[in-house]
Amino acid sequence: MSQPEGTRVALVTGASRGIGRACAEALASKGWALALQYRSNADEAAAAARAIQDAGGKAQAFAADLSAPGEAARLVDAAAQALGGPVALVHAAGAISEKPMAFAKPAEWAAQLELHAISAHALAQALLPFVRKSDAGRFVFIGSMAGVVGLGNAAAYAASKGALAGLAKSLALECARWKATANVIAPGYVETAMTAHHDEARKAAASAAIPLGRYGTAAEVGALAAFLCSREAGYVTGQTIAIDGGMSLG
Ligand code: NAD
Repeated sequence: MSQPEGTRVALVTGASRGIGRACAEALASKGWALALQYRSNADEAAAAARAIQDAGGKAQAFAADLSAPGEAARLVDAAAQALGGPVALVHAAGAISEKPMAFAKPAEWAAQLELHAISAHALAQALLPFVRKSDAGRFVFIGSMAGVVGLGNAAAYAASKGALAGLAKSLALECARWKATANVIAPGYVETAMTAHHDEARKAAASAAIPLGRYGTAAEVGALAAFLCSREAGYVTGQTIAIDGGMSLG
């Protein structure tokens, strides 16, 4: 039997700040109960959970280092025990390793692939038993335009984000029988801690190449994630959706 609207559980990774937190807040505003994954900053995660609770929502924080094999399954299990089985995943946890290709080490490649792509698969796999029992399972992977158009000095990051498109398409095919969907959101530049080191000159140059002339906000990405998790988005699957202010239009 499908879970009634409003009591469904969503797992959001990287949920203590930035895009992940904005996704969690957008989902909570639509009635989802939230499992919030954070890596190490318990205070930040508690604040994120409290903000949702103060707005009348349900949220609980769970620590997990998603660059460690096995953590994804343990995380989903802990969330399921505490809140019920998650039927939606927004995988936003991520970190960029910026280095010219000539200097990138195999271990750095492995770490980027583990955090972005391998953990995405492991999380999705761990959600499947719950998604199978739902009639509206949702997988949303936060990719990057880097994975679509490439990014100089960040090949491992771009490759690990690009892998999400193949994962989402394959998952979309496998999960269609349960009416579940799988998609990638590919942000361009978004104002978060990840871009906080961009100085004014870099920001101005980047913004000049964006038709809408500015970086996006985490809330804008969150709104898209909440839509993709909604029942209304039930016919959108296997897609990579750019949210980049038109940057990729050339
Ligand atoms: P952020 O640094 O604010 O958030 C990243 C989150 O991922 C943090 O909560 C961090 O704790 C978590 N994280 C990092 N390593 C982790 C690990 N090993 N295990 C568990 N959690 C870990 O940055 P953000 O911009 O909010 O990034 C969110 C996602 O959006 C990332 O996947 C990022 O690649 C993607 N993205 C961001 C931008 C941008 O311009 N900000 C652009 C494209 C894609």
